Amino acid sequence: MPANSAGQHIVTVTNRGAERIRAGHVWVYRSDVIEAEDVPPGALVAVEEVGGRGRPPHTRTLGSAFYSTASEIAIRMISPKPAGNVHQLVRERMRAAVAYRERFVQDTNAYRVVFSEGDFLPGLIADRYNDVLSFQVLTQAMDLPEMRDTFVAELRRAFDPAIIVERVDARVRKLEQLLEKANEVVFENPHRTGGTVPPQGDVGAPSLPDRPRPRSVRTTEFRMNGVPFLFDPLAGQKTGAFLDQRENYAAATRYARGEALDVFCYQGGFALHLARVSDKVIGVDSSRTALEAAEQNAKLNDREIEWIEANAFDLLRDYSDAGRHYDTIVLDPPAFAKSRRDAPAALRAYKELNLRALKMLRPGGILVTCSCSYHVSSSDLLEAVTSASLDSHRNLRLLENRGQSKDHPSVLGIPETAYLKCLILLTS
Ligand code: SAH
Repeated sequence: MPANSAGQHIVTVTNRGAERIRAGHVWVYRSDVIEAEDVPPGALVAVEEVGGRGRPPHTRTLGSAFYSTASEIAIRMISPKPAGNVHQLVRERMRAAVAYRERFVQDTNAYRVVFSEGDFLPGLIADRYNDVLSFQVLTQAMDLPEMRDTFVAELRRAFDPAIIVERVDARVRKLEQLLEKANEVVFENPHRTGGTVPPQGDVGAPSLPDRPRPRSVRTTEFRMNGVPFLFDPLAGQKTGAFLDQRENYAAATRYARGEALDVFCYQGGFALHLARVSDKVIGVDSSRTALEAAEQNAKLNDREIEWIEANAFDLLRDYSDAGRHYDTIVLDPPAFAKSRRDAPAALRAYKELNLRALKMLRPGGILVTCSCSYHVSSSDLLEAVTSASLDSHRNLRLLENRGQSKDHPSVLGIPETAYLKCLILLTS
């Protein structure tokens, strides 16, 4: 096998693949891999570019990467230098990720601790919900037992959690040809019995217990912007919160008023924030389980919110036809465009939703409109909303053009790390 002096496999890539790396990206697609002989799944490899015309051909080293034998993304760079001890490198990256949150994340004890490529740890996602940590493995490299040991140990060291759970993305595991598995608790501290709610503003340090919790109950309570929520780490397929919207919740709270409609409300992220500043809030979602969790959250907040289980498209049509009016409307649909091919249909759907919403907004009303589709850009979304404003004869002023919360860092040169758009607009 081709190997370097450190015994690592060598993978050679095309000039196009190398250009991508030089432009700041960390992925090389399989179509740009020239040679990767006998490289095992998830191996740390040395990446080289074939250049020059000499014999043997002159090669240039591009750095170290994790290799996948299954994914179309064959290579994810982890360092422009030869990585000697990859476990040490992962530990350092995790410490940097924690330090970044300590510096930039506020008013919450729930946030993304590791955001894969956004933290130069491709294939690993980890979230903190107060004293519970959850992680997700997205690549062969991160699924290797020694790698799991390394990052789980580091998560324990950094947070001293009560529980660490693994959340499985079955689709991704299949794509990476990883063994099927279920969500599970990978670590539990029998001495930590208290699910605690730290005071507002806490990010790093665990606070003193103020609410003892039986050990067998793993549900925890966390706070975003001073608003409490429940988290049940092992419940169902979809759980947790859309932490990437956390700063947008706070922004929406600054403008919202009157009667508010939160469309695609999930477990009430926007709705519970709006309830602090609005007279009445309605949350709409097609998922009954999400609405049940939302109601639990409303109880915890001591708020009355009307939850409606419905298809948002039908409901918006019915409500606007019935001449209903609101002062604040939030639209936060699921990703309509999963690939570039879906983008035109997605844009039509965004326009339709925004058109209906605009028809129902009273003068001086606030529209908070989001898209989490990477394949729909910020200017695409603006265009769809502009078109809806023209069709509905409503003037709109852009109050804020926002993205994802800072615990989901987006890296220049890796456009895929920026995916969430959130526009806040004022109608006249
Ligand atoms: N705003 C939420 C996140 C929304 S995620 C928050 O901040 O927490 C998207 C939600 O849309 C999911 O809860 C999903 O159940 C819901 N959904 C998907 N398709 C829908 C449809 N056609 N009508 C209503 N809800 C839908």
